[in-house]
Order: sequence, then structure tokens, then C-alpha cells
Amino acid sequence: MSALQSVAGKGHATGREIYDVVVVGAGFAGMYMLHKLRGLGLSVRVYEQGGDVGGTWYWNRYPGARCDVESMQYSYSFSDELQQEWDWSERYAPQPEILKYANHVADRFKLRSDIQLDTRVDRAVFDESANSWQVAISDGNTVTAKHVVLATGCLSNARMPDIKGLADFVGKVYHTGHWPHERIDFTGQRVGVIGTGSSAIQSVPIIAEEASHLTVFQRTANFSIPARNAALSAEERRSWRADYPEIQRKAREETRNGIFTEMPDRGALDDGDNERRAKYEQRWTRGGLTFMSVYNNLALDKAANDTAADFVRHKIAEIVKDPHTAKLLQPNNHPIGSKRICIDSDYFATFNRPNVTLVDIKSNPIEAILPNAVRAGDKDYEVDALVLATGFDAMTGSVAKIDIRGRNGQTINQKWAEGPKTYLGLMSAGFPNLFIITGPGSPSVLSNMIVSIEQHVDWIADCLAWMRDRDLVTMEAKKDAEDSWVAHVNEVAHTTLYPQANSWYMGANIPGKPQIFMPYIGGVAIYRQTCNDVAAKGYEGFTMSVAERPQKLAAS
Ligand SMILES: Cc1cc2nc3c(=O)[nH]c(=O)nc-3n(C[C@H](O)[C@H](O)[C@H](O)COP(=O)(O)OP(=O)(O)OC[C@H]3O[C@@H](n4cnc5c(N)ncnc54)[C@H](O)[C@@H]3O)c2cc1C
Repeated sequence: MSALQSVAGKGHATGREIYDVVVVGAGFAGMYMLHKLRGLGLSVRVYEQGGDVGGTWYWNRYPGARCDVESMQYSYSFSDELQQEWDWSERYAPQPEILKYANHVADRFKLRSDIQLDTRVDRAVFDESANSWQVAISDGNTVTAKHVVLATGCLSNARMPDIKGLADFVGKVYHTGHWPHERIDFTGQRVGVIGTGSSAIQSVPIIAEEASHLTVFQRTANFSIPARNAALSAEERRSWRADYPEIQRKAREETRNGIFTEMPDRGALDDGDNERRAKYEQRWTRGGLTFMSVYNNLALDKAANDTAADFVRHKIAEIVKDPHTAKLLQPNNHPIGSKRICIDSDYFATFNRPNVTLVDIKSNPIEAILPNAVRAGDKDYEVDALVLATGFDAMTGSVAKIDIRGRNGQTINQKWAEGPKTYLGLMSAGFPNLFIITGPGSPSVLSNMIVSIEQHVDWIADCLAWMRDRDLVTMEAKKDAEDSWVAHVNEVAHTTLYPQANSWYMGANIPGKPQIFMPYIGGVAIYRQTCNDVAAKGYEGFTMSVAERPQKLAAS
């Protein structure tokens, strides 16, 4: 029997529902949270604004979308049966296959009956007299939940650029993060892609094959490493699976980013030029994110970082035939890795095609979108369709869109006006019983997100079980613990090169957003240990309150 009386039905809310936990979002975080809490016997309702499960992989259907952490590591580990039975077809699974996997998980663990799709959570208000949340959803109902878990995603609030004239453009406008469900055929069209982050880098080579002409509007050149994507053989899958327990233990307990790879034991300047170049060459040939793990000081020491950045700039110059275009594509305003490093399949080579043009909108910013063109630097680039690869209001965007009110009616947006404040990225003082999965202040986007999601879900579930065993009704981050954690997150970030870039990690892509380094850069291993220690000390840094017992009737 659950802690709270559940009168919930399986269909739409009637206004009487009381849940132990409401989970917002049915991506990988929300689905695993539901599975885990059901295992504790709690009543749970998941609300998802999308038409199906999968989160990121439901929304980001642009051509070329795929994971950049290798599929065999970008998979849940909580069920050995699941990881033994699911066959990834490629080194980096394409979006349709990851979405299929999410649907397989929903079916295999019979999650759908507790997930209400096409339903936004608009508002969540903490009722201090009842120690519970009133959660208003887009079907007009309000449900009560003892706890709310925000599984709303770090990269789920697509950023629409505010460009003059965009609304008057007569052709089709697509955002990579809100791609239509049907296949878009660009054959014979003049296409403009605005933005050159990860989504553009994945989609540009594919759009270029179809479009009659592709114009790429670049403000910031980004570092990208070849993916070297390939089919996965049965033998490769078998070998990963055979070593899964040790691979996953190392990824969780020994790495910074939750990705298993050889651990570097020396810095870039400890090797001579030839040896260093040979190592970079070997990683470049192997492909993938682990390029940055060749040395242990690339994120810390600018001179060391420069050796890797120079290597990649040199590669770009080798690949791109037109020297002017090559120069524009060479990143030169941030250390390599300080903005999310991209993984590509023939991105740079695409600029050798006669039907592709690169436009530098840093020197010549876009002035306006005309009905059939993009105007930049007094020049009109005619286009029939526009692809906005302009990214996300990362980490806080989807939380900020919900009207969340904690103690004394304070909203989360008021509290976070100068940047997000959390304790461990999990809770924010003044908002009892409200958990965030991969929230700001946790490793989140700096890691293999599945590793971070599983760690948060397990921690939250253990915590709720612990509270239930002790009849505790509220849990809340203490202000001083939160302040120290925020200071620590900031301090660690500033020992690295990361804050030197105007990145979305810093909120720099959103006009007016406070510029604070949001994720925790200390690494998943240290972070996990910290969370475990906090739990082992009876959830140090959190305040808990006990249920008020009914007064005994005085003897008559
Ligand atoms: C193109 C792309 C590629 C990526 N590749 C990788 C990768 O290779 N490796 C990696 O580790 N990470 C990658 N990521 C990050 C990715 O977001 C995570 O890996 C993971 O999918 C996040 O899962 P989640 O459940 O936390 O969030 P999401 O998948 O974002 O799911 C959150 C869900 O919450 C819903 N939601 C939000 N607000 C509300 C609301 N108010 N009411 C109802 N529903 C709401 C959203 O609709 C969404 O479906 C990638 C992200 C993108 C955009």
C-alpha cells in the first residue's frame, strides 16, 4: 500500500487524484523514474507533453540525428535482460532506432498505463498546510502529489531565434528540436541552415545531398571530430556485453564523463611534438568523443588544450579545399571542448560541394529574414526553406516554463533569477519534495546522460523509500548546504577552461539569461560518491519533517 491513499483511475484526471509522485516528462529519465517508483509500490503519474515517450528522441527527428555517445554505452543498465536482448545496429544509433528503443522499454516494462501523453504540466504549487503539491495539467485538471519529479530534460526547450521578419518568411521553417514526423524532402530546394552546433553539424551533410543549394549561416565555428560511424557486428556487441559489469562500473566510478575509455595518465605537454601528433592522429582515426580523453589536462591547461585545438584546425584546413572557407570553419574563439564538442560524418568535407555556401554571420550578422531570403551583410541569400539549428534554452528552460511555486508562494523563476541554485542539482531550498533529474549543479550535460539519469533516479528512489520507512513527509534542501554547493560548482568550473567559452553551458546563447556555469564539472565519479555520502549521513544538508500524529483523545 502506498504512503498516500491513491484514488487515481487509469484514464484522464477527474480532479480527485492523489499520487505519491507526479513525474513530469517521459524521456529516458521519466520512464526509468516511473519503473523504479512502481517497484517501491508508490502510486505514480507521468505527464508528457509530447505524443509519445522518448523525449529528445521523440522531438529531434532532423536528418542525421543520432547519439554521439556510442550506442553500447548510450543504453540503460538497470535491467540486464534489457541490455542483453537489445541489438544496436550501429556504433552511433540513428534517432529512429533510439526512439524505437524508448518505445521498447515502455512496452517491455508496461509503463504506458501510468503515462499520460499530450499533457503539459503548467503549474505546480506547494500546499504548506498539506505538505503536498497541487499540479495543474493542460487538460484542465489539477492533481495532488506528495512529491514531484521534474524529468523535463536539459535540452528540451527549443530556442527560436528572434530575427526580424521570420514570421513573414513564405517557405517552410523547421527547428531541428521540433522536427515534423513525416520525412522532409529538400530535393530541388534552396535551403538555409542557421546555426552550426551539434544538430547542424549532423544534418548539414545530409541536407546538402538533397538540396539544390544549401547556405549555412555560421556565427561560431565549432570543433568537431569524425564519428567514424559503422555497423556494429554481432561479435562487437557480444564483446561489449560480456564486459558490461566492469565497463559500467568504471564509467560510473572512475570517469568524469560517464564514458568508458582508457584513462589518460599524462598531460599533453609531457609528450614531444611527434608523439603527441601520433596520439591525436590515432584518436582522430578512431573517431568519437574520446578524442578529448587522450590527455588528462586538455580541459585544464590552455597550452595543452592549444595542441589539440591546433591539431583539429589543421585537419579542417586539410579537408576543406577553399582556404577562405577552411579559415572560417576553424574555431578560434574558445578552447577545444569548452563548448560541447561535436561528432560528425563528413561535415567539413560537405563545404567542398559546389552546392554549399558558408556565410559568416559573425562579421555580417543576419539583419532580417525576407519572404524568400536571408539578408546578412547587405546581401540577400535566396532560400525556399529554413532550418533553425539554434539549439535550446538549456538546463533551466523547461523548468522555467512551468509555474512552480514553493514556500511562501516564491516561484522557481524568482529564486533562480540570477542563475539556478540547487543542492547537488537535485533540489532547491524553499521547494520541498520537488526533485530534478540531471538538474543544474549536477554533471548532466557534461556526461553520458544515461549514466547520470540512472544515478539520479536510483538516489531519488532510495531517498523516498528512506522517508517512507521513517514516516517523513517533507524533504527540503537547506539554504546553507545549497549555498556551499553552488559555490563549489562555480569554483570547480573556474579551475577549468570551460567558462572561457560563450557556451550554452553558461547560458550565453539566450539573450538576458544569467551567465553562470550550470553543470557540475567535478565528474560523475566524484559526484556519485558525494551523493552517496550525503545519503549515508542521513541526507546531510536536507531538512526532513515528520507527519503530525493525530492528538490522542483525552480519557473521559
Ligand atoms: C540531438 C540531441 C542529441 C543528443 N545526444 C546525446 C548523446 O549522444 N549522449 C548523451 O548522453 N546525451 C545526448 N543528448 C542529451 C539527451 O537530452 C539525453 O541523453 C536524454 O535523452 C535526456 O533524457 P531526459 O528524459 O532527461 O530528457 P528529455 O529526453 O529531454 O525528455 C524530457 C521530456 O519532458 C517533457 N516535458 C518538458 N516539460 C514538460 C512539461 N511541462 N509537461 C509535460 N512534459 C514536459 C518533454 O516534452 C520531453 O519529452 C542529446 C540531446 C539532443 C537534443
